[in-house]
Formats: sequence, structure tokens, C-alpha cells
Amino acid sequence: MPTDPQRVLIVADRAVIDGVARDATAILAIDGAIAAIDTPTALAADPRAAGATLIDWRGRAIIPGTVNAHNHSFQSLLRGIGDDLPFLEWRDRALYRYSPRLGADDLHTAGLFAFGEMLLHGVTTVCDFFYLNSQANDHASAVIESAQRLGMRIVMARCFYDWDGAPAAYRETIPQAVANFEGLHARYHDRDRALVSVQPAPHSQHGATPAMIEAGAGCARDAGVPWHIHLAEEQYQVEQSLARFGTRPYHAVAQLDVDLARAIVVHACWFDEGERAAMAERQSALAYCPGSNMFLGDGITDVVDLRRRGVRVGLGTDGGCSNNRVSVLDEMRACALLQKVARTDGQAIGAEDCFAMGTAAGGEILGLPVGRIAVGYRCDLVALDLSDPSLWPEQALEKNVVYALSSRAITDVVVDGEVVVRDRHLTRVAQDEIHRRVRTVTSSWTR
Ligand SMILES: [Zn+2]
Repeated sequence: MPTDPQRVLIVADRAVIDGVARDATAILAIDGAIAAIDTPTALAADPRAAGATLIDWRGRAIIPGTVNAHNHSFQSLLRGIGDDLPFLEWRDRALYRYSPRLGADDLHTAGLFAFGEMLLHGVTTVCDFFYLNSQANDHASAVIESAQRLGMRIVMARCFYDWDGAPAAYRETIPQAVANFEGLHARYHDRDRALVSVQPAPHSQHGATPAMIEAGAGCARDAGVPWHIHLAEEQYQVEQSLARFGTRPYHAVAQLDVDLARAIVVHACWFDEGERAAMAERQSALAYCPGSNMFLGDGITDVVDLRRRGVRVGLGTDGGCSNNRVSVLDEMRACALLQKVARTDGQAIGAEDCFAMGTAAGGEILGLPVGRIAVGYRCDLVALDLSDPSLWPEQALEKNVVYALSSRAITDVVVDGEVVVRDRHLTRVAQDEIHRRVRTVTSSWTR
């Protein structure tokens, strides 16, 4: 028996649609997808809206839900534990010390914590680049199920990792990684509503051998999805690539048997002009993490040049202990400010471009119908309180959302047509429960 379609009608005073602010707007969603966008009066008369549940966002502006194209959810538990240390000291004293202790239930806690905080900041899709797999899928499953509990959309970028210098919990053989990826994809990948996607993620040139990178990219080709890889985050990684492979990071990966048009490169801070040109020619995408790059002192990706060459760029927060915020709206601002200062040019990039990177472009690079308020896209929306001073004056709404917005103004969030944040609180999981769980996991940890 087919069930009746779920109809939701959202009505607000303002909306930012494809970068342009408009007045009173109504959006009709049927079974989680946007079916119509019009004035409230016109949609009230539309027979498809008959019997729809009303979500009344008067006094609010609607923006598309933001897309976090790169994160490591478990790292939220490490926030503040290893800050302001040199990378190798942080890795050994915080990351390698605590992360191997985390079991499935702890990683579920980390997911509730990271994703819950993201929802409160207007993130509706997160890509979790996950490498604590312990040669199995119960850890990745626990993370996926934390997003499902919260009602958030997740891309599980399941890592392929075989560098023997890292803790055993990160490592797998190539046959293990391939079999586990295929098992996880078969179990969770959701073609209907795209609430869960499973994509492969060979960690990096240092974390995955060339054969492991090829295996990950091969799984992406077979599954028809993108694949993810960290490249050239820090300058020493370029030197390592030159020493090991005789060429720079992007060129070294391009020499492998991989489909670069499916590749999502993370960071790329130290790509030179030749790598940027090759990236455009081979049609790879970028997950850009300006907040993390600044926090760790990594360097500055030339995003202005990459975009001019036609490279698709989404935004990521990276892990909660390398930023240490989880807001894509913050990344939009960070992107603009960093690119402007890199070129000492206040016109290097505009608010509207940064907004598109954190919404529509993020959805596009992940291969998901999200990040736009458009018919046929999934209904992922954020409500902003127009009485909040950080959005005044209202005629500059598109600019203010990127440059001035306070997270205090984010009141409600809808994912796939369902309200998952109402009046600044998660609707599905009690924040007290998440807080209690985080305390239990981290209580014995020291800085
Ligand atoms: Zn990362």
C-alpha cells in the first residue's frame, strides 16, 4: 500500500534563493523534495498544498541548508586538547593518544556531538571523512546512525588507510578496505532520499600507498560516486611527494589509475600553477577548509585562481580540533577574508561566491541534490531571525548572511522536509544527553 505523500508548507518573510534575496516566500515540499516555490498567497491556492503541514517562519528569512564538504566528527571530542602545538606534537600527544581508544559507542557520541552542533549552526549535510575503522564497519555504522538519529544528511567518506606509522585502528589491507567499503555502501547508501551516501576516501599520499589510492578510486568508479583525498595541506607534503614520487602531489596522483573527474581534493594549500591548471583540466573538485588552514598555519589555497580556471569548490570546517568551529557560514566569511588578504585586494572574491561555495557548490561536488532552493532539490532549509541585529539593515541580507551573521540568529532547521532544530534546540535528541555522553568519554583526558 503506497502511503500518502508528506506535504510541508514553509512560509517566511524573506528568502535568499540562488544568491538573490526576495520578499515573502513559500516553499512546498512533498516527501522531502521541493515541489514549488512561490508567494505565500499563490501557494496557499495551489491544490498540491492542500492538507500540508504549515511551518510558520514569519519574522524569519529562509536560506538553503549549508553543506560541510569536509569534517572528521570524532575530532570534536579532542577540541582544545592539543591546541597551539606543533603538528607532530599535537598528533602524538592528542590524536594518536586518544583516538585509538574510541569504540563504536564513543564514535556515536562524537557524531551526535559534532553533527548536533553543526545542525544548530545551519549545516544540513555533512561529509564525514572517517578513518577510525579498525578493519570493520561497526565504527562507521555508529557514526552514520548518529546522523540518522539527529535527522541530518550525511556523506560517509570511508577512509582507505595503510600507512604503518599510524595506530592500528586506522589501518587496513587493500582487500579489507575494498570489502568493507562495498559492505557499508550496500547497507546504507540511499538512492531515494540521499539521506546517507557512502563514498571512498583514500586518506592522503602519506596515509595510503599508491595501490590503496587506486583501490579507493576504483570503488568510487564502481559505485558511481566521488572519492576524497587530502593533498598538499602542508608544505612538507610537497617535499615528501617530490622525494618519494619525483613529482608534486597532484601530478603524482594523476599518474595513477584513477578517475580524477570524480576526485574531491581536500586542502591543496601548496598546489603550484601547474597543479592548479591540471586540476582544472582533469575536472577535480576542491573541498576548501579556510578556517582549519588558518588555525593550523597550513597556508593559503589559491581559490580565486582555481575558480577562475573553472574548478568547482565547496567548503569544509575540517575537524572540531583544527578550527575549532563547525559552522559553514563561518567558513564563508573566513574564505572571503583570507582570499582578500592573500591578494591584498578587497575585491578578490565576493560574499555571493562564498555563499554559493558553502551551499550549492558543496552539494554539486558531493553529487547530491542539495544546497539550492529549487524545485527537485531536497528540502534542506535554515531559518534566520530577522529581528537579530546581525542581519540589519535588511536590504543587504545576502551580504550580511556571510559577513555579519551571528549564529544566535539561526532559529530553525529543516532536513528533507522535517524540522530537526526548533527554537534553537535539536528536536530528535536531547542536548543534555549529548553533553552527558561527551563528558563520560572525555572526563579522564588531559590537555
Ligand atoms: Zn581532513
